Amino acid sequence: MKIAILSRNPRLYSTRRLVEAGSQRGHEMLVIDTLRAYMNIATHKPQIHYRGQALEGFDAVIPRIGASVTFYGCAVLRQFEMMGVFPLNESVAISRSRDKLRALQLLSRKGIGLPVTGFAHSPDDIPDLIQMVNGAPLVIKVLEGTQGIGVVLCETQKAAESVIEAFMGLKQDIMVQEYIKEAGGADIRCLVVGDKVIASMKRQAKPGEFRSNLHRGGTASLIKITPEERSTAVRAAKVMGLRVAGVDILRSANGPLVMEVNSSPGLEGIETTSGIDIASLVIEYLENNAEPGMTRTKGSG
Ligand code: ADP
Repeated sequence: MKIAILSRNPRLYSTRRLVEAGSQRGHEMLVIDTLRAYMNIATHKPQIHYRGQALEGFDAVIPRIGASVTFYGCAVLRQFEMMGVFPLNESVAISRSRDKLRALQLLSRKGIGLPVTGFAHSPDDIPDLIQMVNGAPLVIKVLEGTQGIGVVLCETQKAAESVIEAFMGLKQDIMVQEYIKEAGGADIRCLVVGDKVIASMKRQAKPGEFRSNLHRGGTASLIKITPEERSTAVRAAKVMGLRVAGVDILRSANGPLVMEVNSSPGLEGIETTSGIDIASLVIEYLENNAEPGMTRTKGSG
């Protein structure tokens, strides 16, 4: 097969591993810098050009689109789809999962367990917003945050009110979420490919910290997940319409709660922790599923 990888940097671990795994399995792999591709919108023959040449003859495309280039990246991916190239994840599914409010609304509609969450821009009654998520302690999150930045644990009602006021002053959209104390500073990343969890790991926050992000000093280890966690992760990916996803789960007293469904999950942490050759399994998935013109909107909303 001829496979394109949309990625800003061929040296990134995940991009490198996908190129390596694809080449080893006999495929022609080409990394395309998402922002450098340009396109024409024509009625009969949509095209993508890259470095002065038309991209042609691709069987599949692997989007590795960073959060900051979601808008343009999804447009490039959509163009591949219009050309009949099979996407590992579809552009609509990626946009859906990148919009945190939309994603949580869709997951809740399908009955997936979630932490009780409130959304607000400029709430006219902050104490009532706090009450909506069952009061302090609670977690406040800036909507565009990544790697745990902009995620704050407020132990008391007063602290929560001050933090919400501060974010309002900065004109930030926020999420206010019940604090899942029993998760003990840990979360579980499940890597879903197709309708299976092919690898999972536990991330544990360092002592005195509740955020388990590896960038915040968290550590990763192997974990055996329960059948309920497994089916929750697979269902969450399916609701978003993602064929490949990293689903982050908190273990609560009431079962697994989904925090986030990631459409471009990093491979480094999970391959290193699990010892599983995930890149090859992703390529194998394309071998079994990529057919021309197979693009259609999956999931809902
Ligand atoms: P980011 O997307 O920036 O990583 P997250 O929403 O994933 O932000 O939060 C970062 C970390 O904080 C999570 O990995 C988890 O360990 C912890 N965390 C987030 N929300 C909650 C919550 N409601 N209850 C308990 N811990 C949480």
